[in-house]
Amino acid sequence: MKGKTILVTGASRGIGQAIASDLGAAGGIIIGTATTEKGVQCIEQQFAEKKIQGAAFCLDIADDQSVNDFFSQVNAQYEAPQILINNAGITRDNLLLRMKSQEWTDVINTNLSGLYRMTKTCLKGMTKARWGRIINISSVIASSGNIGQANYASSKAGMEGFTRSLAMEIGIRNITVNAIAPGFIETDMTRDLSEENKARAIMNIPLKRMGSPEDIAAAVHFLASDAAAYITGEILHVNGGLYMS
Ligand code: NAP
Repeated sequence: MKGKTILVTGASRGIGQAIASDLGAAGGIIIGTATTEKGVQCIEQQFAEKKIQGAAFCLDIADDQSVNDFFSQVNAQYEAPQILINNAGITRDNLLLRMKSQEWTDVINTNLSGLYRMTKTCLKGMTKARWGRIINISSVIASSGNIGQANYASSKAGMEGFTRSLAMEIGIRNITVNAIAPGFIETDMTRDLSEENKARAIMNIPLKRMGSPEDIAAAVHFLASDAAAYITGEILHVNGGLYMS
C-alpha cells in the first residue's frame, strides 16, 4: 500500500471510514470523500489524528458535474489513483407497490451509475500505469434479495455483473476488479432497525453477531494487496455465514 494513491468514496462514516483508516495505516495516500463540507472536515480531522497521508474532498457520485469537479481537483494535486474503492452507497427502502419513482432512481443513480462514473474516470490512469485495483462494496442482498429493497438489490446485483464484465475487459492491463458483499454491518445504515429486528437478524447469523466496519476493511486490504494479485472478477462474501443459513 506504501505510497499508492487510494481513492475511497464515502470515507466520512461507517465502512468507508474503516477502509480509509486501515489502508492509510498501511502507508497509502488516501483520497477520502464525503457529500458535505462537514464530512470533509471530519475525514481531515481523523487523518490528522491517525497520521494518515492524503486529503478529503466533496463528492456526489450521483452527479456528473460533481464527479468532474472532484477529479479536476484531485488530478491537480495527486497522482492518478492506483486503487479505487467504490464504497459510497445509499438505501431508500420501500415495498415495490409503494416505491416512489424517486426512491428507485436515487438508489440506481447513486449505487450503480455512480459506480460507472467513478470507475470509468479512474480507469484511464490505471490503464496508463498498467496496474490497478478496483474494489466495489456490494451487499449480500445482491444474492439473497430482501423485502423492501428491490431498488437496492438491483443496484448491487448490477454492481456484481459490472465487476465480472470489467474484470474480463481490463485483465490484460494488469488491473483486477473484485467486489465484497458484506452482510449485516454495524453502521448508520443499520442503526435505525429496532432492537427486535436486530436480534432476529443476529439469530440467523452463524457467528451470532453483526459485522464491524473493520471486518470489511480487512477484506478490502486483502484484495488490494499483492497477495490477491491473481484474483479478479470475484465476489467475496463477508457476512458471518448469514448467506448460507
Ligand atoms: P453509511 O454509514 O450510511 O455511509 C455511507 C457513506 O457513503 C457516507 O460516507 C456518505 O457520505 C457516502 N455517500 C452517500 N451518498 C453519496 C453520494 N451520492 N456520493 C458520494 N458519497 C455518498 O453506509 P455504510 O453502512 O458504511 O455502507 C457503505 C457501503 O457498504 C454501501 O455501499 C452499502 O451499500 C454497503 N453495505 C453496507 C451494509 C451494512 O450493513 N451497513 C451491508 C452491505 C453493504 P456522507 O457522510 O457525506 O453522507
